[in-house]
Parts: sequence; structure tokens; C-alpha cells
Amino acid sequence: METDKAAKQEETMKIAVLALQGAFIEHERMLERLGAEAFEIRQKKDMEREFDGLILPGGESTVMGKLMRDLGMFEELKNRIEDSLPVFGTCAGLILLAKEVEQGKTQLATMSIRARRNAYGRQLGSFHTEEEFSGIGVIPMTFIRAPYIAEVFDDTEILARAGDHIVAARQKNQLVCAFHPELDQDTRVHRYFLEMIRASKGMIAG
Ligand code: GLN
Repeated sequence: METDKAAKQEETMKIAVLALQGAFIEHERMLERLGAEAFEIRQKKDMEREFDGLILPGGESTVMGKLMRDLGMFEELKNRIEDSLPVFGTCAGLILLAKEVEQGKTQLATMSIRARRNAYGRQLGSFHTEEEFSGIGVIPMTFIRAPYIAEVFDDTEILARAGDHIVAARQKNQLVCAFHPELDQDTRVHRYFLEMIRASKGMIAG
């Protein structure tokens, strides 16, 4: 029992979730289900805590971008991501990371993708589907006024498509989904992110 506890404690990962607006609580629940510790970043001083990875949730990218600037967090977040902090952006979080944004403003601009905001129009504002995610299998995908990835650049790897569109991708320490894995019961995409972090730590240590 004690050994189990010690082992668990040793590998408990601390994940910061940007909690300025949007669907951040659902990410925290998902992380807790996977045995990781989640805490919220609401102001600049919350970033003084140590953490292994960061989640940028869904919501409204323009509002989150403005709040990050107003609260003086923008530069530090951008620098830490560029400095290889593992980051997972869902929906609006994907837009925040994109170096190019259609129908919207670029924000952190750290990832070599072009995002198309509100890409599905009004009729298809929200929908649910199931598609293959590279290395994971078929997963549920819930889209809410979602973007898609119109193009990937440099070494960005495509991880999933839905219909004709790219909906998940990775570039080194950055993972993005146009859908909301935190709103379904399937934990595999979050598990993939935690594995990404573990692998990057292993590389640093090795
Ligand atoms: N439409 C939102 C935006 O442009 C994203 C929607 C979402 O995160 N569910 O930021």
C-alpha cells in the first residue's frame, strides 16, 4: 500500500489549466481521472508554481487572448511554450497557438498551423462524430463552433481528420484538437498528452 502510494506520488504530474474563460473545469476532471494534479492559472502569479504541462481550453479565443494580455501573462506563456513547455490546446486553445488564423487574430502564434475559425458555419455549429486519431484508434469527437486546421507547416504532424478536414495535430511539445475531448468520457487524448510529457521528460533526463 505504502509503496503504491509513494510510486503514485513520484509520478503525479502537475498540469496547469488556463482558467480565464471557457471549458476548463472539464479538463481538470479529466486530468484527475487520470491521476494527474490539475490547478488553475487565473493570474500571472499562478505561473510561479511548478508544472509539467499546460492546457489551453475551449471558449472564445479573442476573449482569452485579450485577458492574457490584460493580466500580463501573454509574453510569459508564449516564451515558455517556445521554450518547450508541453501544451495542449483544444478548440479556442488551438486558435491561440496557431501561427496563422483565418477569420480571426493570431494570438500566441507558436505552432506551425493555419487555423480557420468558426469553420463550419452556423448550421453546423455543433456536431458529434467518431474518427481515427493516430496511435490511439477511433475516438468520439464533439465540435462546438469549432475551427479546423486548414494547413500544417514545417514539422507539424497531422493526427486526425474528420471528413475532409484536419482536426488534430502535433508539433514537438504542442498538441491541438479542434474538438473537445474533455466533454466526452473517453480519456485517451488526455492520456496521449500525459505520455507526451513523460516522453519529453525522459529525453531531458537521458
Ligand atoms: N469559436 C470559438 C473561437 O473562435 C472556439 C469555440 C470553442 O472553443 N468551442 O474562439
